[in-house]
Amino acid sequence: MSEGKNFEMELWESIIIEEVWENTIEGVMYNIRTIGDIYVEETWDKLLIAKTLLKMPKEIRENVLEGALFVQVGVFFGLMSKEELTESEKMDVIAHEIAHFVLGDHMAEKRSDPYNEREAEDLIEKWGFKRGYVSYEQFEKGRKRRQ
Ligand SMILES: [Zn+2]
Repeated sequence: MSEGKNFEMELWESIIIEEVWENTIEGVMYNIRTIGDIYVEETWDKLLIAKTLLKMPKEIRENVLEGALFVQVGVFFGLMSKEELTESEKMDVIAHEIAHFVLGDHMAEKRSDPYNEREAEDLIEKWGFKRGYVSYEQFEKGRKRRQ
């Protein structure tokens, strides 16, 4: 085997090792970018985001880690406090917010679309998470999709 080939193999191995690491809890946690209040510094919350991302398809996870900034403001979900949700419910909520990002709901043209909530929850169900809303009527009632 020539030296050139050895070098190339080593390079491939390091790329493969990095790929594997990037798809571990540790690797995902390392790549999560956050902004917000004191809770952001608690590794526990980052761990939960990482666990949620690891349940999602790899291309979705990569896209989110590349483009999303996680903003956290102490409570996860409306008026519910952190303690009132189980771990898997918290992951459903995190997945829901990630779905909004993946669907581009933060973009100006989709921001007021009344169907955003339903679409986000259709998507998280595909990823294996549970819906948070029983009905979407409160968002969609009397509204028509534009276009
Ligand atoms: Zn939502």
